[in-house]
Amino acid sequence: MNEIETLKKYFGYDAFREGQKELITNILQGKDVLGIMPTGAGKSICYQVPAAMMEGITLVISPLISLMKDQVGTLNENGIRAAFFNSSLTFAQYQKALQLAKQYTYKIIYVAPERLLNDEFLAFAKQMNIAMVCVDEAHCVSQWGQDFRPHYLQIQSFLKQLPKRPIVSAFTATATSEVKADIIRLLDMKQPFEITTGFDRKNLYFAVEKPKDKYQALLSYVKENKNQSGIVYCLTRKSVEEVCERLNKDGFQATRYHAGLSESERSKNQDDFQYDRKTIMVATNAFGMGIDKSNVRYVMHYHMPKNMESYYQEAGRAGRDGERADCILLYGAKDVHTNLFLIEQSHMQEDMDEDMRAKLQAKEKERLKSMTFYCTISGCLRHYMLKYFGEQSEGYCGNCSNCLSQYEEQDIKQDALQVVACIKSSGERFGRTMITDILRGSANAKIKSYHLDHNESYGLLKKHSKAYIYQMMDDLLYQGVLKQSQDGYAIISVGDDSILHQDRPYLMKIMKEQKHSIPKKQETIVDQTLFES
Ligand code: ADP
Ligand code: ZN
Repeated sequence: MNEIETLKKYFGYDAFREGQKELITNILQGKDVLGIMPTGAGKSICYQVPAAMMEGITLVISPLISLMKDQVGTLNENGIRAAFFNSSLTFAQYQKALQLAKQYTYKIIYVAPERLLNDEFLAFAKQMNIAMVCVDEAHCVSQWGQDFRPHYLQIQSFLKQLPKRPIVSAFTATATSEVKADIIRLLDMKQPFEITTGFDRKNLYFAVEKPKDKYQALLSYVKENKNQSGIVYCLTRKSVEEVCERLNKDGFQATRYHAGLSESERSKNQDDFQYDRKTIMVATNAFGMGIDKSNVRYVMHYHMPKNMESYYQEAGRAGRDGERADCILLYGAKDVHTNLFLIEQSHMQEDMDEDMRAKLQAKEKERLKSMTFYCTISGCLRHYMLKYFGEQSEGYCGNCSNCLSQYEEQDIKQDALQVVACIKSSGERFGRTMITDILRGSANAKIKSYHLDHNESYGLLKKHSKAYIYQMMDDLLYQGVLKQSQDGYAIISVGDDSILHQDRPYLMKIMKEQKHSIPKKQETIVDQTLFES
């Protein structure tokens, strides 16, 4: 049986998706492979098909118990014998499974990373024919990644102890070059065949909105999309609780998920959502890695997430069935502060020295900046996102809120020069609110206490709205004309303003009308397999 016949026989699919065939062929030729594919692209098939075809056992290292259970269930239903070894098994169950594994009952064994160096498991692995070790969610090995799992570092030592080196395959949806280099190095991969498949998911509509009242924006969206399955991501557990409660009060079937809930509540809520007993899942980023629900029609971000990687991964959980789905981010300037706060608090519990922590935090602040630009640019959102992941694309996609909004280009050079002058004359020590207040001639107490009402820029942009000045600053930050400190104060200073001194206009797109009415969706076909438990 060849690759395609195997795909058809066990999975019932007629054709490979982008990248799958190449990865499988290389594995079958004995090469290490690294597959970088967005969520929903179909990574599992890439190791499950060759695992079924090769002699010996394939070990799949995966960070999540719930994911293992689902995958193993599906494989067995499809006729590929599989098992998992993790902490959810009782001692007796584990012994039984190990016994069966020793008789080559299973082609594929999922194993938690913390088990790899366990004596009994190691002894087992050493005496068996291990054809391949597959590392799922491989970015967990990298400290640059957002989901670093220290136990992933044991994989290398595990591989070294095997009498015969198996093929090593690794899969992730994180494409930055540092993470990639870490995966190859820390998993000891030997000149792997690498493939990065298109990150563009054409069926996803991307939007950024800046509502005055986020909850009202969410509410009007879910009202318009009743009975559609969707995920609402919040930054904190507290906001998950609040939003979920309000939605329920307003008559929606919402459930919640975050790391502060008990294991049993989490798994119950996840199931309720998975099997469409609840339509809306309100969650922190703890929800999602490994969930495979194909008919999620929207992913709404109630807050801006900490970086583009997280955003793309979370938003990418919408529309995995290939049908149209919406990815909407509700941006508020406060989100930047919340994220900065979370970054300041991060890595505190981890065992690492100050230097390393400071380095990681600086990196995370950089990433936060790129995320913030996504929320403030007026160009095509998809183009920006793909560029971030190293992919070229047209500057216009026609399926994002910026492409679909009406903009008017204006030469803002004179006003921009006033902004720069104001920042300089007030000593480069204020954030955007103060700068805007000075320029608009506000008479508030803070302005007075700093004597800024005597500043030479005071009131010079009186006739303009706050929103216009904010947008101008966002644009100037994006172009590097202004800089913003990444501490909690977000102080704005002047960067390279030479572009404003050239003999040509400085254009900014000003939104005339944001089209809230998202293009009409096609009728969705409900995936029947979801109801067979
Ligand atoms: P990933 O791990 O990359 O997020 P999965 O491996 O969970 O994605 O696959 C996502 C969905 O796509 C699954 O429902 C899977 O069965 C389906 N899928 C994968 N490969 C194919 C294919 N060649 N043809 C049709 N469906 C596929
Ligand atoms: Zn676009």
